[in-house]
Amino acid sequence: MRVLLIEDEPNLGQAVREHVAAEGHAVDWFQRLDEAEDALGAVDYELILLDLHLPDGRGLDLLRTLRRRGDATPVIILTARDQISDRIEGLNAGADDYLVKPFDLDELAARVAAVARRYAGNPNPLFRAGAVEVDRANRQVRVAGREVDLTAREWAVLEQLLRRPRAVVSKDRLEDALYAFGAEVASNAVEVYVSRLRKKLGPDLIRTLRGVGYRLEV
Ligand code: CA
Repeated sequence: MRVLLIEDEPNLGQAVREHVAAEGHAVDWFQRLDEAEDALGAVDYELILLDLHLPDGRGLDLLRTLRRRGDATPVIILTARDQISDRIEGLNAGADDYLVKPFDLDELAARVAAVARRYAGNPNPLFRAGAVEVDRANRQVRVAGREVDLTAREWAVLEQLLRRPRAVVSKDRLEDALYAFGAEVASNAVEVYVSRLRKKLGPDLIRTLRGVGYRLEV
């Protein structure tokens, strides 16, 4: 997923970015609301992690603005322990979930994965096709019962395909999922990662539809 993180505490922001990226998501991190709003105008995010108290305003105002214009991007708010009223206000303003600081990074990862599944229209964390079994909740992949390790980028590509099994996923969408891992995405990056996935998961799982995109053969 492409994730927008808005958090002005440097240590927390960095820890969250690293942890969510390690789970195979591409994370853009901003410390101010105005920068985040610019990013929202330019990129189609699939999840927003939103601190409520930022140097140039309240996170809740951004959330209300999004919902008012019909933007249903999932939002998880990050709140302080003593601010229960913030949490209630946040949920009422259209947040999907919240985490109380200091939170466990593995819990954050689990919430992120749950939101991703819910909004992908495929809440089932288990996927099976032929000899391939994937547990999206635990990021475990098995082929004929044997566990297979995927890199974060390989997982990012596979996760996009798993979100809509049987649907064609465009090369642009897969590139977008890879983009925030590094400044440069080579023009053949998607082909490279699809080819690595085929080596690990078998040649028949991912089908190429020339000029259109890729699809899981389930
Ligand atoms: Ca803050």
